Amino acid sequence: MNQRYADVAFEDRMSHVDFRVAEKAHIVVDTDVCRSCTTKACVHACPANLFVPTDDGGILFNYEQCFECGTCYLVCDGGNAISWSYPDGGQGVVFRHG
Ligand code: SF4
Ligand code: SF4
Repeated sequence: MNQRYADVAFEDRMSHVDFRVAEKAHIVVDTDVCRSCTTKACVHACPANLFVPTDDGGILFNYEQCFECGTCYLVCDGGNAISWSYPDGGQGVVFRHG
């Protein structure tokens, strides 16, 4: 039997999310590598739209509203373009209940 989660509006989901932005980026992107990447898979895969392609073939990245899902790290085709770690304790995304 197929089971589904109840439909929840995007705004309702986001009302339970906080970002405690750490000074030190937990994801670092080597944008020199991105320039020669043909898929730009991160642009399509990141649920927070944090990877933005630039006109000159590069990538702009901002870690501040990252969900820490790890998807970009998994889909990245550029070898070692992404250095990924968790933020220090107490920082980063917070999912609140209620
Ligand atoms: S998939 Fe990886 S190498 Fe390609 S643009 Fe995104 S971060 Fe850069
Ligand atoms: S970890 Fe997830 S939310 Fe954060 S930048 Fe990567 S794909 Fe986007």
